Amino acid sequence: MSDPEKSVLDWLRDAHAMEQQSEQMLTGEIKRLEHYPQLKARLEEHIEETRGQQQLLQQCIERLGGSTSSIKDASAKLMAFGQAASGMFVSDEVVKGAMSAYVFENMEIASYTVLIAAAKVTGDSETQRICEQILPQEVAMAEWLRNHLPSLTENFLDRKADPDVTAKR
Ligand code: MG
Ligand code: FE
Repeated sequence: MSDPEKSVLDWLRDAHAMEQQSEQMLTGEIKRLEHYPQLKARLEEHIEETRGQQQLLQQCIERLGGSTSSIKDASAKLMAFGQAASGMFVSDEVVKGAMSAYVFENMEIASYTVLIAAAKVTGDSETQRICEQILPQEVAMAEWLRNHLPSLTENFLDRKADPDVTAKR
């Protein structure tokens, strides 16, 4: 295996661990959301996409003769738990959660952009095709979050001003 091919495989494994972390974080957030049905529905939709992405990445990794790193995947899950847990006690949980999700989606966009470029270098058209299939899902999720951050913020502040309703989640 050439050096660039090793890099592609490493980055595919990183992406797989990242998608596991993503699933974990989205699951944690969705479980806690009560008063923001639109956000919840969009995140639920993205969890399905995220699970599909994990399978596609797994296929790429196995095709290249690798296996997913259970250590990396386990630490990704632990990190996600830490992040989800740390968000639970802040009074603006829903806003912080949406901001974190936006940042995370942009990290995913960067990862697939790198993978596509690397797969072009090694002539791995299947990895390229799969990453080009995943990338628009991440772009759409990031765009959605950015477009909805203003209304989410307004909604949160409205609820916060009303002593009879819960704002934080
Ligand atoms: Mg993803
Ligand atoms: Fe994503």
